[in-house]
Amino acid sequence: MGAGAPMVLMVGPDAGEVERALRAGELVCPGCEGRLRPWGFASPRTVVLAGGAERRRPRRGRCRRGGGTHVLLPDVMLVRRAHGVEVIGAALHASAEGAGWRRVAAMLGVAATTVRGWVRRWAERAERLRAHFTRLAVWLDATLAPIGPRASPSADALEAVAAAAVAAGRRWSAMPLWRFAAAASGGRLLCNTGSPFPAPWTAGSVPARDCHHELGGWNGRRAPP
Ligand SMILES: [Zn+2]
Repeated sequence: MGAGAPMVLMVGPDAGEVERALRAGELVCPGCEGRLRPWGFASPRTVVLAGGAERRRPRRGRCRRGGGTHVLLPDVMLVRRAHGVEVIGAALHASAEGAGWRRVAAMLGVAATTVRGWVRRWAERAERLRAHFTRLAVWLDATLAPIGPRASPSADALEAVAAAAVAAGRRWSAMPLWRFAAAASGGRLLCNTGSPFPAPWTAGSVPARDCHHELGGWNGRRAPP
């Protein structure tokens, strides 16, 4: 695990349900297969979500086996990003459709340099993202039609995320595209590290029926070295 990418456990946005699951011992450590127990809170942060800025203080859990502590990050957020994943996703889509980053920034009311940073990072990571979400899509739905090439590597990566989200929706129940992307990347969609993404296929299991439980569970399985 690179020092730059904290290992968080992605959870749903409903804090009450997260609390219940944490107390019930249902949440699995992202570093081993131990169960997490309540362990205070992460530092409070302001995150700009689609509906506006919100103050959030994510729960923290401690692994009963390894003893490590992990932030339980709602899937509307990404690791070390002050904007919600749906805001970032909207910018990436608009950019892939040809809008310049200044225009995207004006559209979303975000600083232009911030948008440029997201777009550049996505482009740098495009091949890794495309490969990860394509594998995930095929794992979720073996009958998936081939994902055709788009206008750029960045657009190819967006297409793979969309294909995986559709496959996940078919397997479980529909989930908003970018929340799915956040959960399925362990919150590290835009992290500039070599940390592996959660790789549920390494567990040798078929996807479970329940989307969110399974997305949380993904992080509990060992990623390939
Ligand atoms: Zn652990």
